[in-house]
Amino acid sequence: MLIDGHGRTVNYLRVSVTERCNFRCQYCMPEKPFSWVPKENLLSFEELFLFMKVAMDEGVNKIRITGGEPLLREDLDTFIKMIHDYKPDIDLALTTNAYLLPQTAQRLKDAGLKRLNISLDSLKADVAHKIAQKDVLKQVLKGIDKALEVGLGVKINMVPLKGINDDEILAVMDYCKARKIKIRFIEYMENRHATEALKGMHGREILDKVKERHTIRALGREGASPSFNYELDDGYQFGLIDPHKHDFCENCNRIRLTAEGNLIPCLYFDEAMSIAESVKKGDIQGAADVLAQVLKDKPKENRWIEGELEEGQEVSSRAFYETGG
Ligand code: SAM
Ligand code: SF4
Repeated sequence: MLIDGHGRTVNYLRVSVTERCNFRCQYCMPEKPFSWVPKENLLSFEELFLFMKVAMDEGVNKIRITGGEPLLREDLDTFIKMIHDYKPDIDLALTTNAYLLPQTAQRLKDAGLKRLNISLDSLKADVAHKIAQKDVLKQVLKGIDKALEVGLGVKINMVPLKGINDDEILAVMDYCKARKIKIRFIEYMENRHATEALKGMHGREILDKVKERHTIRALGREGASPSFNYELDDGYQFGLIDPHKHDFCENCNRIRLTAEGNLIPCLYFDEAMSIAESVKKGDIQGAADVLAQVLKDKPKENRWIEGELEEGQEVSSRAFYETGG
């Protein structure tokens, strides 16, 4: 079992397979970064898998593949199959913007993938275009349909932004309800890479929008998940991820691995240790030692704060496209 320096059990590994993306979402990667990680610095699937085996052998039983846009990585289904064949019972999921799902969903399902989280911030073509800085909506909706058609579990993530898509909270929820899929609203997390003028909606404001049409009942958190669940009068359940509260940090069960092999203990902070050298040499003990050190140093909680920054406080410099959110 993996236990961190604060006594928390860590059983969840998120693996980013690329920082590249075919969208330029304003809250994540509004411009192509100055320096992409050169392709030769990316770990191969075999190298990533060597570390993942160490983590799975030590107790990780939940893995999410993310990015950047993970479907940009060629032959992702072979990677999924490697993980699935090693531990068929593993809770294996993928986060994607859905753009490439029409042509990949079936292969992913056949390889052993069980669940997808898909980002859908708007049902209006012009608004989706404005957020992703690309005309994406039609293809994204096709991707969601395809995922459902092949039998993949689907959850939708929406990041409500003031003056951009805040009037679509109920519409996107209705879209999900009609397909019997869960929606999770994510508070915008300020970070140095996002478009500066962006203003996210607070969790309270998101709930107020839902309450305009429904009565809601708070259910609580789902295990160690950062998502707090609510139920509508008609029994439909949705989630709210409100990192500005920090109250889920005390149960945090996750660590993150980037495509170039940095092991990150907390989404907010810059701190990381590399497993690249170990896995390139096939040094399993070396990779296990880095894992142990990262767990020992895992911070107690993130530092997203509510309201205005106080003097000396900075927004997180971590890039979501690098860590995979
Ligand atoms: N490209 C994939 C996608 O968009 O789903 C996977 C990677 S993306 C970084 C993972 C998640 O992080 C998405 O649901 C996205 O909405 C979320 N995200 C990115 N930047 C964010 C921010 N600044 N605040 C809150 N959520 C963010
Ligand atoms: Fe790409 Fe996902 Fe970031 Fe949007 S949120 S830019 S789709 S990595």
